[in-house]
Order: sequence, then C-alpha cells, then structure tokens
Amino acid sequence: MEAYILIVEDEEKLARFIELELLHEGYKVDKAMDGRTALDMALEKDYSLILLDIMLPELSGMEVLRRLLKVKDTPVILLTARDAVMDKVSGLDAGAVDYITKPFAIEELLARIRVALKHHIASSAAGLTGNGGGTASGISDARDLKEEGILKWKELEMSIPKHTVTYAGHSIDLTNREFVMLRVLLENMDIVLSRDTLLERVCGYDYLGETNVIDVYIRYLRSKIDEVFDVHMIQTVRGVGYVIKSN
Ligand code: CA
Repeated sequence: MEAYILIVEDEEKLARFIELELLHEGYKVDKAMDGRTALDMALEKDYSLILLDIMLPELSGMEVLRRLLKVKDTPVILLTARDAVMDKVSGLDAGAVDYITKPFAIEELLARIRVALKHHIASSAAGLTGNGGGTASGISDARDLKEEGILKWKELEMSIPKHTVTYAGHSIDLTNREFVMLRVLLENMDIVLSRDTLLERVCGYDYLGETNVIDVYIRYLRSKIDEVFDVHMIQTVRGVGYVIKSN
C-alpha cells in the first residue's frame, strides 16, 4: 500500500519543493496552505502521515494538531522554525510523532518520514484490530484508532492521546519532559540512545544547557517507576547512553 501524505505549508515554494520530492519517492501527496483547510482534509481522508507547519493562516498548526488527534491518531511531523523550542516540546507533548527544524535537508525529512511510517505501521499491527480500513468515521473507528497511541513495557502502559502512564493499573505522575523522555525511550525500544540524541528529542535542537540534564530526568524517571515498582526498566549503557529493553 502506498503511503498518502498531506503537506501543510503556507510557503508555496517550500510546499511545492517537498511535494516534488515526495512524489519522486513514490508517495501519494496532497497539499493544504492554511490550517482550516488542512484540518478538514485530515479529518476527511485517512492520510498515512501529515507534515504540518506550525505558523499557518486561519488555524495554527498546534490547533490543527490538537483537534485532529482528538479524533484520529494520524502520525504528524511538525515543521518548526529554528528558534521555536517551545513549539517542539509542546508539539511532542500534544502528540506529534516528530519534528524537523526549517531549513532542513530533504534527506533528513525523507528519513524521518520513513521512520514515522514504519513506527506507525508497527504500532498499528501490534494493536487490537485491523481497524477495518473503512471510510465510515463512526465512534467505533475513533475507539480503534485510540488503541494505536499506546506504548507498553511489561506492565507499564503509556497512552499518548490521554497523556497518562500507568504501571499495573497504578497511575504515575510525570512532568511533561519526563513524559517525552519516557516516550522517546519506549518508541525506540532496544535501541541505545545517546545523551545527545535524548537531549535533542526532549529539549529541542537549540537547547544550550548542560547535557547532564538528561541524567537528571533519567534519575527522576527511575525514582518514579523503577524504584516504586521494583523493576529495572531504564538501563544505562556505559559511555553510550540509555535504553529500555523489551526483555
Ligand atoms: Ca508558515
């Protein structure tokens, strides 16, 4: 099945450039130039992925993201401005799967698209249903789609749409950054992530503080999860970084 991608970008030249590259890669593509049109299209059709600019006329990218993810869990990659660190963090908190900072190398965007599509297919396959693939957008469809935003490790369950984490049914109270950090680790299960990678994913590309902030968050997560539930979830790989192993 070929992936169907919606590009939401009001800079016409950039939108056209991305469109040509995606067509060249064999994707099916639609474009929207403002937030309202984008939201209508995204609700109407079942896109495999949406590339979403944040600064848009009519309705901001963040608003499109929030309204869309209430109904569907289409993977969204945000296109953000270089200095908009808060956009990236709140975008990930709001449920975007990834972001890329403008200006970007097209190869990087294509790589991120491939990863997002692969993850989404993998998590859909791991979900409870095949979702029918129908076009009727009934309540049951919305319920099925919600199942896809859930990440699991042993008895730990993270719901991205609900922004909750539980262990064996006990709820765990995390700050936004702790939540994003845990999400990144769970999404990259069995892959060792370096401090730099974690820093970039959790704090944004432009973060100028100390990299040991990552060790601090890991410590918080361990004190809230590993120590409370007596598990060894987040493993340290000396000299490299951190990993959550599936077994
Ligand atoms: Ca824009």
